[in-house]
Formats: sequence, C-alpha cells, structure tokens
Amino acid sequence: MKIYNTLTKRKEEFVPIEPGKVRMYVCGPTVYNLIHIGNARPMIVFDTVRRYMEHKGYEVNYVSNFTDVDDKIIKKAIEEGVDANVISQRYIAECKKDMEAMNVRPATTHPLATEEICGMEEMIQTLIDKGHAYVAADGTVYFRTRSFKEYGKLSHKNLDELEGGKRSLLVSGEDQKEDAFDFVLWKPKKDGEPFWESPWCNGRPGWHIECSVMSKKYLGDEIDIHAGGEDLVFPHHENEIAQSEAANGKTFAHYWMHNAFLNIDNRKMSKSAGNFFTVRDIVGKYDPMVLRFFMLSAHYRSPLNFSADLMEAAKNGLERIRTAVSNLQFLIGSAADGEMTETEKALAEEAKSYVAKFDEAMDDDFNTADALSVIFELVKFINTNAAAGNTRAYLQILLDEILLLSDICGLIVEAKQELLDSDIEALIAERQAARKAKNFARADEIRNELLKKGIILEDTREGVKWKRA
Ligand code: AMP
Ligand code: ZN
Repeated sequence: MKIYNTLTKRKEEFVPIEPGKVRMYVCGPTVYNLIHIGNARPMIVFDTVRRYMEHKGYEVNYVSNFTDVDDKIIKKAIEEGVDANVISQRYIAECKKDMEAMNVRPATTHPLATEEICGMEEMIQTLIDKGHAYVAADGTVYFRTRSFKEYGKLSHKNLDELEGGKRSLLVSGEDQKEDAFDFVLWKPKKDGEPFWESPWCNGRPGWHIECSVMSKKYLGDEIDIHAGGEDLVFPHHENEIAQSEAANGKTFAHYWMHNAFLNIDNRKMSKSAGNFFTVRDIVGKYDPMVLRFFMLSAHYRSPLNFSADLMEAAKNGLERIRTAVSNLQFLIGSAADGEMTETEKALAEEAKSYVAKFDEAMDDDFNTADALSVIFELVKFINTNAAAGNTRAYLQILLDEILLLSDICGLIVEAKQELLDSDIEALIAERQAARKAKNFARADEIRNELLKKGIILEDTREGVKWKRA
C-alpha cells in the first residue's frame, strides 16, 4: 500500500510502526457552527482510508479531536450570552449527527481540547525546560521556532527565505516575541473568556499545542499517520512537528496526508469567504450517500469543484449500484438452493477478481476515483451475469462482493428495512382475512406490496411463512 507523504513529496510504501496496527490522528473541526461540506471532505476521505486499512486487516486506532476553545467559539458565546461550552457542546452534537448521516464512523477517541489542558501545560513546561519556549512579561508563552532546526521540513519552507515577508507581518503587540517566527503556546485570558490556571498566567492554550498533546496522549510519541486538509500544512502541522519533536525527542508522524480543497467556482469553500453550503443544507436536498459518493469521485489530493451537475452524476452513479443490489436481493428471494454449476463457479471467480482490482486502485494512495470505476465494472458484470435461474449460492457471492466494496467506501447501498416484523404480521393477517372473504384482489395486492419491500410470502401447510429477501 502506497501513501503520498507530504513530508517527502513522494508516494511511499506504508510500513506501520507496530505490525498490523495503525495509529492515526486527524485534525478535527473547530465547533462554533454547523460544519460545511469543505469540512466534510477530510472526514469522508480519512474515514475511507480507515475503512480500507481495516479491510486490509489492520487494527486502526483513529483519533480525531474537537477544538472546543477558540476565538470564534468565544465570540459566538458572547453574542448569545451563554458559556463557551454551551456553544461547543451544541455544535459537537450537531457535527456528530452530520457524521452519522454521511456514514463517517465515530473515531476510536474524540478528545476535547478543554479536557486535556493538564497535558498541554506539561508539554509547555517541558519545552520551557528544554529551552524551546520562553515566557514573556505578560505571561504569554512562545515557542522559540529557530531552536528547532528542522522547522519548515513539512511545508518545504526555508525560514531565511521567508524572513523578509514575515518581518513585515510583525504587528504591534507581538513585539514581545524574540523572533517574528515564534508562535503562541499559552496566552493570557481576556475579560469574559474561559481560562485555566497555569504557572505562567491564567489563560488558555494556543491551537497548535492541542493536537500535539492529544496525539501524544491517545497514540503515543510516535504515530503512523497524521492527516487533515492542505490548509493545515503551514503553520498548524509544521508547528505541531516542532512542538512534539522538540518535547519528545522522537519523530512525530511517519506519514503526513493532506486532502485538497473542496471549491466552489474554483475557490476554496470557507466560512469566512461566505461561499459555503453546510452538510445540513445538502442532506436536505440529497441523500447523504450522494454527498459521500461525490467526495470519493475525485482523488483526495485533487481539488474538487462542487456543482449541481456533479451531484446529479453522483446520484445516478449511486443509483446504478443500488439497482444492481436490489435486483440481486430480489433474485436471491426466489433462487433455488443447491450447488453452483460449473459455469457459475467460473463466473464467481471472475467476480472476485474485482476485489483485487479495487484493492489495486486503493493501494495506489487511495485512488477512490478508480476504485469507484471498479465498482461500476462489477455492476456491469452483475447486470450481465445474474438472472432468474441462477443458484442462491452464486447470487449471494455477487451480492457479498458488491456490498463489500461499497462498504469499504462507506456507501450504504442496501434499501432500508422499512417494515417492522409486527407490521408484516399485521399485513399477513389482513391478507388471510381477505382470502377468507374471497377478496383475492386485496390478498394479491398485499402480497405484492410486501414483495416490493423485500418480504417474501410462502403459503405452506402450517400456514403463511415469510422471510426478508
Ligand atoms: P477547521 O474547522 O477550519 O479547522 O477545518 C476542519 C478541517 O476541514 C481541516 O482539516 C481543514 O483543513 C478542512 N477544510 C476546511 N475547509 C475545507 C475545504 N474547503 N476543502 C477541504 N477541506 C477543508
Ligand atoms: Zn491539528
């Protein structure tokens, strides 16, 4: 399995630190509003990476934080006249609803920045003790960027080249820094803001230290994969590397993965630019699986432009898979038991080869666009090679294959079980009563209604039996 590593700018063979296990950290959203579909891109992409790794047999420890203390959260809390945690808790709950709708599985752990302050203070103290950080007169703690010799290795930036531009960025209030490149680890509170006590001042952590600490606590000093959107490469991830490696003395993450932007009219979708759709807007108009399909229709490192046309194409693509699945389920409902024929055995082998082809696409830096094409090839194969008269065993193999590949992509392609057992029993009783009253039209109507929902009736000597297709 090859992964493009932002650190080396190359596709590299994936070799985990511990055989069979993956330690993966994905930077999560700042929770002050409903998430937009740009934020949904890393969620869907890295959830698919996780699912694929599990398919390959890895045990994945997947950690993704919520940034629940931040200027934007505090601003919103002041506007609404509530505590900051009322805002963050509200939008964490909303974000989790959106994730569930998009079939993004919950992380192994979703740490909250506000619950990890102790660890942040410890890491900051270590950095001060090692000479990598210093306390300014007002209690702000800064990271001494030039003390970390490899600073710039992820974003491939050179401090000396950057220097001219950066100096002009020095704004008033920042002149207590030793150097323009130094960044905040801890800052003093302002009136009305949430704060924690610390040896330096009552205040709160900087954003970058949060992820260094949460990653260390839940995954250890050295992890396999650290991921997020490409806007996080600099300065967020560059700063995380500096903090973690300076404090722990170990390589922080072996592979750095970054998704490209979701754009609108070729511009990054963002809250600040105002050119965004929330996930909630979209799932009001489309099945959330259409959104997921749309996201996976491009390689994660390619920019993706949101448009109604592409969403329509995604809707049609998804529908083709769903139709093949429901046809198979229908055929299985009335298929004969018994051994597969020789022809079926050969076809079943051919069907299985699509899994190998799918894996080949995903092994090449998670090429979901090609992987979806393989699913379509399998759909075509199913449409050509599944019919009434095939054995149940053969049809079941085809169904298992297509459900397996869809599930690795996190696409739900089976029709929901709409009827509860009690509803079915009630309809069967009504059908029996209709037959007794010689109302055969109604009895047939009920049978067909149930069949459409995948419920098959069998009239036996012991009475009516039913099963789900
Ligand atoms: P934020 O809440 O802004 O920190 O964003 C949470 C995650 O969404 C980060 O990994 C960002 O890089 C990512 N992100 C934000 N906007 C976009 C976008 N338009 N396209 C792709 N990823 C994005
Ligand atoms: Zn982060």
